[in-house]
Amino acid sequence: MARTLVKTDAIVLRTMRMGETSKLATLFTEHHGKLKVTAKGARRPKSKFAGSLEVSWQVHIACPVRDDRDLHNLTEAETVRARPRLLADLTRLSYAAAACEIVDRLSLDHEPNRRLYLCLTGVLGGIEEVASEQLEALFWYFQLRVAEALGYRPELANCANCGTLLPAEAAWFSPGLGGGVCRDCGRQDAAEQDGQGAPDYLRARKISADSLRLLVLLQGLRTYSREAIPVAPPLLRDEVRALLRSFLEYHGGTNGRLRSLEFLDAVTH
Ligand SMILES: [Zn+2]
Repeated sequence: MARTLVKTDAIVLRTMRMGETSKLATLFTEHHGKLKVTAKGARRPKSKFAGSLEVSWQVHIACPVRDDRDLHNLTEAETVRARPRLLADLTRLSYAAAACEIVDRLSLDHEPNRRLYLCLTGVLGGIEEVASEQLEALFWYFQLRVAEALGYRPELANCANCGTLLPAEAAWFSPGLGGGVCRDCGRQDAAEQDGQGAPDYLRARKISADSLRLLVLLQGLRTYSREAIPVAPPLLRDEVRALLRSFLEYHGGTNGRLRSLEFLDAVTH
């Protein structure tokens, strides 16, 4: 099997202790997708990896990678961007951890996706710099972009099932059908799911006109800028959180719920 020396920037998605002194880390790299690596001796104070493999940090790595292996032996990691602001702020840290978990759970090993990488680095930078009232809408923007980068952009303008223009006042949302749907398609989908005993969170449901409008606005932002991110009205929060989460879980095939989003719910309520 081919062995390639990969040198690339990466974001640390997750770390775990391994043995007495080492670490296991999941990285999302700029050019080679997700990689799981072992960093031998990383927890020794004088290790060459000391202080670089922290969740959400950007690192430059060197790592020999074999396509037929799941775990690779990291040889170098140098910090490109630490995130001191996150360490001092539990709310921001929770958003960053949730962004990393989403990318971890929705991506496959060795599958390059530079768009997803840029989306993640962009949101992590944003989480450090936006005003705290903007964090929630920034995170929704990120989830919409992730869906797009993975090839399942939610439909929000026309019914995802029959194509009619969505009237904001009477729209439904169905994770399974692909986003916003008209009332008729939504009701029919909900009835079918009832018959199949689908879990509640995956069922088609009504979406409020304000939530739909805000999602359309966020989806329409071409690139992230601090000024462009609105403040999400707190009243919409539970609704939008639930529907974005169920959309990603349905299409990402996460085999279960995204846990860090529950933590985020707990921290930010
Ligand atoms: Zn329809």
